[in-house]
Amino acid sequence: MTHYVYRFGGGVSDGGSGDKVLLGGKGANLAEMASIGLPVPPGFTIATTMCTRYYEEGQTFPESVQDEVKTGIAHIEGITGKTFGDAADPLLVSVRSGARISMPGMMDTVLNLGLNDQTVEGLASVSDDARFAWDSYRRFIQMYSDVVLELDHGRFEEALEIAKEDRGYYLDTDLTADDWRALVAQYKDIVVELWGKPFPQDVHDQLWGAIGAVFGSWQADRAKVYRRLNDIPGDWGTAVNVQAMVFGNMGDTSATGVAFTRDPSTGQNAYYGEFLINAQGEDVVAGIRTPQYLTRAARETANAKPLSMEEAMPEAYAELAAVFDQLERHYRDMQDIEFTVQQGKLWMLQTRSGKRTAKAALKIAVDMAEEGLISREEAIARVDPQALDQLLHPTLDPDATRDVLTKGLPASPGAASGFAVFDSDTAERRSNAGDAVILIRTETSPEDIHGMHAARGILTARGGMTSHAAVVARGMGRPCVSGAGSISIDAKAGVMKVAGREIREGDIVTIDGATGEVMAGAVATVQPELAGDFGTLMEWADGVRRLKVRTNAETPLDCRTARDFGAEGIGLCRTEHMFFEQSRITAVRQMILAEDEAGRRVALERLLPEQRSDFVEIFEVMVGLPCTIRLLDPPLHEFLPHAEAEFAEVAQAAGIEVEQLKRRAAELHEFNPMLGHRGCRLGVTYPEIYEMQARAIFEAAVIVAEKSGEAPIPEVMIPLVGTKRELELMKIVVDKAAQAVFADKGRTIEYLVGTMIELPRAALKAGEIAEAGEFFSFGTNDLTQTTLGVSRDDASRFLGAYVEKGIYARDPFVSIDVEGVGELIELAAERGRKTRPDIKLGICGEHGGDPASIAFCETVGLDYVSASPYRVPIARLAAAQAALKK
Ligand code: ADP
Ligand code: MG
Ligand code: MG
Repeated sequence: MTHYVYRFGGGVSDGGSGDKVLLGGKGANLAEMASIGLPVPPGFTIATTMCTRYYEEGQTFPESVQDEVKTGIAHIEGITGKTFGDAADPLLVSVRSGARISMPGMMDTVLNLGLNDQTVEGLASVSDDARFAWDSYRRFIQMYSDVVLELDHGRFEEALEIAKEDRGYYLDTDLTADDWRALVAQYKDIVVELWGKPFPQDVHDQLWGAIGAVFGSWQADRAKVYRRLNDIPGDWGTAVNVQAMVFGNMGDTSATGVAFTRDPSTGQNAYYGEFLINAQGEDVVAGIRTPQYLTRAARETANAKPLSMEEAMPEAYAELAAVFDQLERHYRDMQDIEFTVQQGKLWMLQTRSGKRTAKAALKIAVDMAEEGLISREEAIARVDPQALDQLLHPTLDPDATRDVLTKGLPASPGAASGFAVFDSDTAERRSNAGDAVILIRTETSPEDIHGMHAARGILTARGGMTSHAAVVARGMGRPCVSGAGSISIDAKAGVMKVAGREIREGDIVTIDGATGEVMAGAVATVQPELAGDFGTLMEWADGVRRLKVRTNAETPLDCRTARDFGAEGIGLCRTEHMFFEQSRITAVRQMILAEDEAGRRVALERLLPEQRSDFVEIFEVMVGLPCTIRLLDPPLHEFLPHAEAEFAEVAQAAGIEVEQLKRRAAELHEFNPMLGHRGCRLGVTYPEIYEMQARAIFEAAVIVAEKSGEAPIPEVMIPLVGTKRELELMKIVVDKAAQAVFADKGRTIEYLVGTMIELPRAALKAGEIAEAGEFFSFGTNDLTQTTLGVSRDDASRFLGAYVEKGIYARDPFVSIDVEGVGELIELAAERGRKTRPDIKLGICGEHGGDPASIAFCETVGLDYVSASPYRVPIARLAAAQAALKK
């Protein structure tokens, strides 16, 4: 019979060494910690498979599971010597959710479950601490009412605030046993008022209510949103963990905290965390009291007064530090930990691989490889290529003037500027409309996930380095400043007050997540570079990758950036971008609107020196490297004049009447230009255009070869080819131009002529086309459009629904549709190689910078991928990971 309950603690570990699929992340790691002898309060996990069954069976529990849960409770009772529901010495438990990966959309934990009007008295007398017992009971009623009964938590908070005000208290810890007892009575009244029934007194009802609420939360809206944003399948399910309570709120020798074995923000190899004396778990993240530092060094750096744990509880701290080291050696990764100290005794409540910034990921991977904890290959595999994006963007210029409003905590690094917005729906709406926004909240909660995702950066008035905002922002790679206490926010009015000034919704603000600074207005930025750990990891990656990485670039600046980032050539240089420049557009228009070849040649003669100098600049940067240059591709109408003044200018340059020009422009109108007179169809009808471009390329190559002593390697690419004959004709034009230039200059340059594969016909006929072309570059943007029959520019209206309904797993313009477009690529590669075994194969669509697509290119055995300059390092790492996986 399948069983669903797995016990842990007290020498038992049914889950063994942690099966996350079955037990969820939290449950698996509790079992694993217990199995390596760490102090874990005993408990049991109800497996994720139960979640699936729970929904299959109309949200009910089979009887067998009810029996298993009884056995689980008996296990905890056996170890603790306490009995669940016992009026004299009650066992209390926590009920915790736990999916395979940590999910902020899930039900919050319920602590102190098992308290009722009788057991609270028992707890008071065995602990000899009535204050602690009543504090625990009020916490339980409050949490249970909030997360299980889903009553308005504001009412409970309000009652507590009033109680404090009436008595002139400032902190929760000021309340006495009698104060809490009185508050409990009020809380119970609130429950009756809001829920219509008294607060459940039967501890088993409490337990099953909480278990049902965890499974129920799997299908809650915010959990669904989180799954959608993070590609988490709906059928994974969550587990439920039931665990004996340990108490951090039993006076000054008790505490609770969260910690990382290394700094998750910088990656520095130093313990990092926060703790609170005389408190329970939730208090640290909730931002009710300001937590204290874990280590003395951190406290001193921050210039804070309250003692660190290292100073206040040296023994428990030493034990904790030993646990950190043991956990890192065991898991071989940086860990994110929750712990509680009950009257001097340390208990471990959670561990998992810690979320970290890209900067920290690099440092930790490189450090751990150098410490011998992991291999270099593992280090390469550890860093998410996409996350590098965070490091490849400009940071604030240290010399720029800053209008600093205030300083908060540096919770997630990176700088961001944008319009101030004060709620998540507005953040999402404005971001969809194309605005950069900074989300500003008093504090964030799981309901803000969509707004945080939409924002460029996040600023909160409350919360520490491990607050919800900080943790989620780091995971998403968003810059974040948290706990900027001097700002006050009125979200309804859309205004924040700080330093005697007002920032309204729509005002520009800048945050620096590395320093905690909050600034008014925008601030100048500087380019990043691949130094330190980043450079080291890139070197290691280059040592294992097989795929070459080129770039898509057409300006000398982009080429320079890409080369600095390690590009090994140009995979796509689009020549039309050069045509749009102000100095040339008139000549281009004259060329397009000419009535005949003679007219076109006049204009082309004017363009030749301009194109030549473009190529000279690019070749100079790319000397010694292959450069794929695509001849003119877009529909001619894209260059047509629109305004009267533009027509007049062209008419004057060409020496013809405006009316005649307009007639010619009307003739060039196309119904479906993307499938119209474009690509090599231009070269077939007006060969003189490609002839001019080819001349410009070869003349530039000769000039650079002569100047620098090293020749560039031009690869002339003919776009939108569907048949061998098209390519043959165009190759003749290019070769003739090359021969003419070489004869004229007395110097030969090596070059290739090839084509872009971007039509299904070209892929099918690749065997024949390879007879005429020396390389293929898969133009996957157009190949996706033409294979799917979907226009990239219009897809946004329906593609979202397609992905949601699972028709395509991901946006096929972002990640290659491996099944469809991928099959064409494989087929073309195979047929092309059969004809010409040494044919050069590459990819130059946007996909060239997408790690999943790069992995696909590795399996097909392409020679290179080509990515936009800022994605070159991402592609280098992704190519290394793909090679390691093979
Ligand atoms: P989350 O996933 O939101 O962190 P957890 O289940 O880990 O939820 O618990 C929330 C807080 O309650 C944490 O600080 C945790 O350490 C604390 N906690 C959970 N179970 C217990 C327990 N049995 N005894 C004491 N504290 C607990
Ligand atoms: Mg936790
Ligand atoms: Mg194309």
